[in-house]
Amino acid sequence: MSIDQFKFSPIPPEAEAIRADVRRFLAEALADYPPTRRAESWMGFDAAFSRRLGERGWIGMALPKRYGGADASPFTRYVVIEELLAAGAPVSAHWFADRQSGPQILHYGTDAQKAFHLPAICRGERFFCIGMSEPNSGSDLASIRTSARRMGDKWVVNGQKVWTTNAHRSHYMIALVRTDPDSKRNEGLSQFIIDLSLPGITIRPIRDLTGASHFNEVFFDGLTLDADALIGTEGQGWAQVTAELAFERSGPERFLSSIALLETLIAEVGRQPDALQAKEIGRLAARLVTLRQMSLAVTAQLAAGRNPAWEASVVKDLGTSFEQELPELAQLLLDVAPATRGSSEHARVLAYLTQEAPSFSLRGGTREILRGIIARGMGMR
Ligand SMILES: Cc1cc2nc3c(=O)[nH]c(=O)nc-3n(C[C@H](O)[C@H](O)[C@H](O)COP(=O)(O)OP(=O)(O)OC[C@H]3O[C@@H](n4cnc5c(N)ncnc54)[C@H](O)[C@@H]3O)c2cc1C
Repeated sequence: MSIDQFKFSPIPPEAEAIRADVRRFLAEALADYPPTRRAESWMGFDAAFSRRLGERGWIGMALPKRYGGADASPFTRYVVIEELLAAGAPVSAHWFADRQSGPQILHYGTDAQKAFHLPAICRGERFFCIGMSEPNSGSDLASIRTSARRMGDKWVVNGQKVWTTNAHRSHYMIALVRTDPDSKRNEGLSQFIIDLSLPGITIRPIRDLTGASHFNEVFFDGLTLDADALIGTEGQGWAQVTAELAFERSGPERFLSSIALLETLIAEVGRQPDALQAKEIGRLAARLVTLRQMSLAVTAQLAAGRNPAWEASVVKDLGTSFEQELPELAQLLLDVAPATRGSSEHARVLAYLTQEAPSFSLRGGTREILRGIIARGMGMR
């Protein structure tokens, strides 16, 4: 492994060509959308907005045309999602289906699963959540205990997931569970596509620091699934989820979560910055450009069919550091205190992101875990 993995990967002109259309659409659709909502970034949930994107063919666009996609390159998808994130568009409803579940179903699903789920995902009508973490099994995902036991031609699921983003407003979950009761660690795990409207499922939202409820506890109590809920190969769940994580860790959502604050900060500083403001805002812009370039290099590897797990971890680690430093730097550069109500838009955006930012380096794998992966990738472990 070497730094060459991050070689310059410009966006091809055919992918760039879509940018103007997306910008035009967003300027109209989000004309009255306030900075405080833009600050929610990819946690902003609006099912109607997702359907509007689906009508334009901007969800699941890298999926094949025969399943409702556009056969678009990962770079074209990149252009669309970076425009959405830069504008603070409310993309959360379809986010996990577009980024992970759709590609996962395309790769491992049966023809029937593809035909049933992918067109609905592309229309922005079917939302997915990711059921990996459990109490005491977050970083140590291989220790999960939720089980699925075969009973005749059915599977019966018991156990609990936690921190499941959007479980309370999704239609399906792709869950990692233990199908071999005698297995240890990462063996004997499998993935299921779980219809969240079935009996035997209880979903309890958890309130976060900002007062919002994005993630949940999900309990399975004798949940009965048909055999065709299994996705991929029984016992191969670990290999399936680890491949999924490279998609989860390298995208622009790993460095653009605080972008609404950078915008209100620049607006508040105005056209006559002092020397420190000019220098620090310039440094932030330079870091942003570098992170984008690294993220595009990982996109190039994903497009070439590789599994750039450690490179994706570098992007997420550096990207979330950037997102998390922004609220602190904003306070250093301007004498504006965070305020949850009243005051200026900048103060409210600052308050929201000050409360939300600690989670950026937890979701999708913690900093310490990513650094372990990076060390292994560099041959240091
Ligand atoms: C906003 C948000 C959304 C989330 N959404 C989802 C979701 O949709 N689906 C889902 O499945 N999960 C989700 N998660 C869960 C997330 O993946 C876990 O929180 C994360 O993997 C850490 O697991 P944990 O919370 O159990 O902490 P722990 O694993 O208990 O870690 C606690 C601390 O110990 C450190 N630590 C643990 N092991 C080691 C080690 N070996 N070496 C060094 N340090 C270590 C960690 O880095 C961390 O600082 C979400 C989390 C957040 C914050």
